[in-house]
Amino acid sequence: MAYTVTFWGTRGSIPTPGAQTARYGGNTPCVAVEGAGGHLVILDAGTGIRALGLQLVERQNGAVNAEILLSHAHWDHIQGLPHFKPFFAPGNAVRIWGSRQGTMSLEAILRQQMDPAVFPVPLDALSAKLTVQQVESGEFTMGEFRVRAMRLRHPGTTLGFRLTPVAGGPSMAYVTDNELGPGGHYDVSSTWRRDFVAFLKGVDLLIHDAMYTPQELEEHRGWGHSTYEEAVTLAQESGAKKLVLFHHEPEHGDKAMDALVAAARKFAKARATRAPLEVIAAQEGKTVTL
Ligand SMILES: [Zn+2]
Ligand SMILES: [Zn+2]
Repeated sequence: MAYTVTFWGTRGSIPTPGAQTARYGGNTPCVAVEGAGGHLVILDAGTGIRALGLQLVERQNGAVNAEILLSHAHWDHIQGLPHFKPFFAPGNAVRIWGSRQGTMSLEAILRQQMDPAVFPVPLDALSAKLTVQQVESGEFTMGEFRVRAMRLRHPGTTLGFRLTPVAGGPSMAYVTDNELGPGGHYDVSSTWRRDFVAFLKGVDLLIHDAMYTPQELEEHRGWGHSTYEEAVTLAQESGAKKLVLFHHEPEHGDKAMDALVAAARKFAKARATRAPLEVIAAQEGKTVTL
């Protein structure tokens, strides 16, 4: 089954609108995966989800059924939710999937984000039917896709996802906010790296955190992010066919991003494995067809 992957938000940490970031994008993470049957899985709800929500409302005759899968609940991955237009019409249904954080349920986290102290519309006042589905690592089905989730090396509980069409076909993985280097103290098993490579084995499209250059990482060990070199190494080790660099550092304007992509390609070529790895960086508005 063919499907498309569209980038609505590519930036890490904070939105960075402006002329310097126009090509790679300034919205925080949001990726739409659309199956042949028109079923949509939305990965993360950064500010990119606002424009996606508008498009869903415009193109739909009738009710919008949206499924949103959250990697974790840091601001940049949920801050677009209160501005997701399908929430504001009766008849629409939105299901949000994600992990709890410690003892706090996902619903409590979402409720807090829309608390009257910080936002004018409380969660209970939304017109659409809202369902919150708590998930942990493991397997579950979302419409046309089989989803496998695995815990990442990032503060709190953060999940990476591998999606495969239930009907069979190419698979993709969405892995943002993940520290591949030795920094940080995360609640993952001692065999994490090996398990993670197995989790990604042979994936057709790997979207991975590549926030830093190797120099920048020196000051950011333990922050829960990776360099483009670490992302390339992981992609080659896993036998991924195509790597999409993601969660761009807010200070990286388009020129810096061009240089980063060129350096990542050079690095991939220099340590080429059996099959060549295609490397691109996520650009807002771009679609990859699998
Ligand atoms: Zn993030
Ligand atoms: Zn994060």
